[in-house]
Amino acid sequence: MEIYNHPTFAMACQQFDTVADLLEIPASDRDRLKFPKRSFTVAVPVRRDDGSITVFPGYRVQHHLSLGPTKGGMRFHPDVTLGEVAALAMWMSWKCALTGLPYGGAKGGVAVDPRLLSPGELERLTRRFTQELIPFIGPQVDIPAPDVGTNEQVMAWMVDTYSAHAGHHVPAVVTGKPVVLGGSLGRREATGRGVAYLVGRAMDTLSMDASKCTAVVQGFGNVGSVAAHSLQKQGVRVVGVSDVGGGLHNPAGIDLVALERHLATHRTLIGFPGAEPVTNAELLELPCDVLVPAALERQITAENAGRLRCRILAEGANGPTTPDADEILTRRGDVFVIPDILCNSGGVVVSYFEWVQDLQSFFWSESEIVDRLHRILEGAFVQTLGLSRRQGIPMRLAAMSLGVKRVWDARRLRGIFP
Ligand code: NAD
Repeated sequence: MEIYNHPTFAMACQQFDTVADLLEIPASDRDRLKFPKRSFTVAVPVRRDDGSITVFPGYRVQHHLSLGPTKGGMRFHPDVTLGEVAALAMWMSWKCALTGLPYGGAKGGVAVDPRLLSPGELERLTRRFTQELIPFIGPQVDIPAPDVGTNEQVMAWMVDTYSAHAGHHVPAVVTGKPVVLGGSLGRREATGRGVAYLVGRAMDTLSMDASKCTAVVQGFGNVGSVAAHSLQKQGVRVVGVSDVGGGLHNPAGIDLVALERHLATHRTLIGFPGAEPVTNAELLELPCDVLVPAALERQITAENAGRLRCRILAEGANGPTTPDADEILTRRGDVFVIPDILCNSGGVVVSYFEWVQDLQSFFWSESEIVDRLHRILEGAFVQTLGLSRRQGIPMRLAAMSLGVKRVWDARRLRGIFP
């Protein structure tokens, strides 16, 4: 299926093929598991503030429908393509299956730089994109959530547009919305909090003492900023952070509260006085105990994998490490990888809680949410580590084989219609 051609989709397929070989999945079942069930491309016309009209391409990919509705984020970023979104949807499928959620994977987005839109243009873009997708999304069909370049406000506009069409409030159509509209306590923090929880579990496994450890975080958005704060709360010294404009390094530790104040005023980390500037490439190679890529795909490659100086690689982003880089890390043997589909799964787990709460109109306390989140992450971590050790395989292969196996089992049992 050439429509999905993209380096990130090729990477997701290569990972899948490795797992399929391990699980001895017959050739006849592989394409059915790999290629998305459905994908949509829409043209999104937006009236600009100056009266002109720009048409942006929008996408939504639903990877498989065998375990329930599909679930996954909406990304607003200039590099969004159908192939990238298809790869991210595939990873969502393995992630939901690994954590035992009743969903197939999905992902979507618009090829746009949201920073170049006014608030009014962003709202019109979001509403028109949602309108184009109305026949294909819904609480029992496909449930979007925030991702790169989208946030609670974008989710609020999506709920409002969908609800205006339905004629009544339909909170369960998206997750990651504001709490007052039926969002869940703890959803905003869920992904970064989950990353920090799993880093803690990896440290236990490696007998590392958090209070003697340092961390570097690439990307200071929803995932990266919460991961940095949560790690700091666990006693870890955060010595490096970055955003799209570049990075910051201070071996004595970065004052994250002062950094947030700087970000609120300047909308970039650049120019923060409490640390030295570094490039994003340099940031990844800083000495640290924990490296958290929390920006985009394909950041750790064959080119830089040999130079990483961390003990734990905690993948907050989706697909930050290429298969070539994986091979190098496996050969090195000194980096404990918490693979993306496990490491950042806290986001979709609490999205699942949000969806359940919306469907029941019965809301939980934050401590109930955090407790249930930790229980699910613990189960997935223990299963992944156990399989990795029993079979002597890397953590990523173990996590993916647990996820792929569940989807494969479901599809075999359901058979093919007609
Ligand atoms: P976000 O838009 O809130 O933040 C992204 C951050 O990355 C920003 O600080 C941005 O400046 C930075 N960035 C962008 N391009 C960069 C580059 N080339 N180099 C360095 N930094 C760059 O997005 P987010 O929601 O935090 O998502 C980050 C990653 O986590 C993505 O891979 C996403 O798919 C994944 N993820 C997000 C969630 C979630 O709940 N939001 C859940 C699971 C996985």
